[in-house]
Amino acid sequence: MPLPTAKDKLLFTPGPLTTSLDVKQAMLHDAGSWHHEFNAKVAGIRNALLGVAGVSRDAGWECVLLQGSGTFGVEAVFLTGVPPSGKVAILSNGAYGERMVLMLQHARIPHVVLRTPEDVPNDPRALDELLALDPDITHVAAVHCETTTGILNPIAELGAVARRHRKTYVVDAMSSFGAYPIDLEACGIDYIISSANKCIEGVPGFSFILCRRAVLLATEGWARSLSMNLLDQLRGFEKNGQFRYTPPTHALLAFERALAELAMEGGPAGRARRYQENHAALIQGMASLGLPPYLRPEVQSHIITSFAYPVSPAFQWPDFYARVAEKGFLLYPGKISKADTFRIGNIGRLFPSDMRAVVHAIREALTEMGVPLPG
Ligand SMILES: *Cc1c(COP(=O)(O)O)cnc(C)c1O
Repeated sequence: MPLPTAKDKLLFTPGPLTTSLDVKQAMLHDAGSWHHEFNAKVAGIRNALLGVAGVSRDAGWECVLLQGSGTFGVEAVFLTGVPPSGKVAILSNGAYGERMVLMLQHARIPHVVLRTPEDVPNDPRALDELLALDPDITHVAAVHCETTTGILNPIAELGAVARRHRKTYVVDAMSSFGAYPIDLEACGIDYIISSANKCIEGVPGFSFILCRRAVLLATEGWARSLSMNLLDQLRGFEKNGQFRYTPPTHALLAFERALAELAMEGGPAGRARRYQENHAALIQGMASLGLPPYLRPEVQSHIITSFAYPVSPAFQWPDFYARVAEKGFLLYPGKISKADTFRIGNIGRLFPSDMRAVVHAIREALTEMGVPLPG
């Protein structure tokens, strides 16, 4: 193990992310999960998340926190929110869309999948046609930033279609919430899911679901799971301010601090500016190494970027990864099925200078390996 004083490697990943020292230090406490001081923090976090999303209880919105990683939050929405007679249309262009398909298979919930290639956004017209043809569909589910590639999907256009057909609309905004201003009303969203360790810059331990209260209350009696029943979870918070089962107390303390830092940065719009600057510094630096992004700029998010492997027999991903890691920077493997890529995230407590530093480390690693560079 590194000494406690050793500097952590910087994480250029889709989460968990590099967090601030204050976020880490907020965890140096043992909180009683039943005690009123802690309950007040949980209530404050739920209120603050509604604020980050620009919605309110008065306008009919609710925030439910759920133990577990982001996947648990998405699965809980399906296990709670789809009626016994329900059917879900999933838009998929990557691993997280496919993970929703797996969830529905496991829950034996009827579903239909609208796929586009991994470098092509979801198609609202195809959704319109499908919903016109299949009246059994009750829910539409999409992924905002498909972290597989870093592609951004048209959640507003999809939502307009879902709303016109009166379907419940579920958005996995795991890697984009907090980093893109999302207008829940304008997008026609009913449930949106994210987690503690992505763009709010907290540590792993729980997911959160923002939803229309009336939509969640209407799910009475549908839940296919005890621990992942979001309606009961909401009732738990309303009854005594507590999670129903042991909460990740330390992760919640860290998250409270992370939310304060998000507010200081100017909310999602302010955070978006820093991430855009990070992304621009990354793209510029990688271009100088002859490595352009895999996606077209029009569909590329400012969250995470896929790069094709350099075309050289001297390039081996494990060796490259290890060399860059030794220099203090953790990259992320690629996940695209039809191309050899690796990914570089630019979210978390990272700044343009960190992006320039990782590009410098990549340049050194490629040079050591004998991979030819331009110029
Ligand atoms: C990170 C992520 C998830 C959830 O992943 P966990 O490992 O369960 O936290 C889901 N969807 C998207 C788009 C993600 O980026």
